[in-house]
Amino acid sequence: MPPEPQTAQTMFEIVMLCFKLDEHAHKAYRELARGAADPELSRFWQGMAAEEFEHLQFWSQILEQPAQLETLPQVFSQPAEILRELRESLEKVQALMQPGCDNLTVEESFTLAYRLEFYMLHPAFPVLFSLLCFLVETSCPDKAYEQHIQSFVAALSRYGRVSPPLELLGETLERLWKENRRLALQATRDALTGCLNRQAFMEIAQHLSLLARRKGEKVGILMIDLDHFKKVNDTWGHQVGDQVLRASGRVIRSGLRASDVVARYGGEEFIVLMPDAHQQVAVQVANRIREAFAAQHFENVHPTLSVGVALGLMEENVEDCLFELIRQADMKLYQAKQAGRNRVVC
Ligand code: GH3
Ligand code: MG
Ligand code: MG
Repeated sequence: MPPEPQTAQTMFEIVMLCFKLDEHAHKAYRELARGAADPELSRFWQGMAAEEFEHLQFWSQILEQPAQLETLPQVFSQPAEILRELRESLEKVQALMQPGCDNLTVEESFTLAYRLEFYMLHPAFPVLFSLLCFLVETSCPDKAYEQHIQSFVAALSRYGRVSPPLELLGETLERLWKENRRLALQATRDALTGCLNRQAFMEIAQHLSLLARRKGEKVGILMIDLDHFKKVNDTWGHQVGDQVLRASGRVIRSGLRASDVVARYGGEEFIVLMPDAHQQVAVQVANRIREAFAAQHFENVHPTLSVGVALGLMEENVEDCLFELIRQADMKLYQAKQAGRNRVVC
């Protein structure tokens, strides 16, 4: 479903709040760096500020594209709830940022930073990272965020001698981040292959199709299905089958650009959406994936896959166009199977 205008507005506000939270953190770390008497500690806060700046770049890229804003994919089942929680976090962070930030003891400065990081560990962050990274050109800040938390936890432990409870707090932060990230992945990704799940794919696909319509660019869909996969399971067992499925997710992803969106569509079927697609390139990419997959060996199994490719311009009813394109790619996939499998039909 294309997002309701109200939901798109809510999504915009959620992204805006994430931006503001990181903006406050950036400012706070700069002040801590200025106020720290110990040069090493000051450098540490500078590093934290620089990392916050990177997060700001990520949000800015999304907020700066007016076309993005009206159609941001609905990535939360209860966006109003998330919005309320983030607003509360922002209020708390604003309250922390009272004057005097640059004149704190080591313990006070770590307590402030801890509280900042704690409010910013809202589960919305990893969910947004996981899904919105398809909309920006820079890499996804997911890994960088984890490193940010880890280096903070390491510093808490280094400086923990001034306040042992701080060291303990650090461990809870890290655990919270990992748990939130795990939940975010669970909601948006397929557990076996790590590709997006079908629902998350459809949300992102809608959004990218709307953008493609505005830009007058073609959208490409690849439907990929493993050949005679039932036989792999029947002959070698489900575990080998699962291993083959995991490998196919990896091979497909490594054959694509970062802006292409790939999901596990069903059992042994994958779907790829290519924004700004060109027929020749799409077919080349599909063949590259097919060849790379056929070159894999699993014990005595040499599985292959078939691909159906369809491209088209999006018309006014983007949702219908997208479904039509998927239907066409499915038809081409069927033709590839009929023609003997291990091939690409466009
Ligand atoms: P075709 O070349 O026509 O696509 O033949 P096929 O055997 O691949 O197609 P079919 O649809 O008959 O069988 C798909 C098989 O995929 C059946 C099902 O058990 C298997 N499958 C689906 N999901 C999983 C999974 O998560 N793990 C494993 N091991 N097998 C799965
Ligand atoms: Mg199959
Ligand atoms: Mg199938």
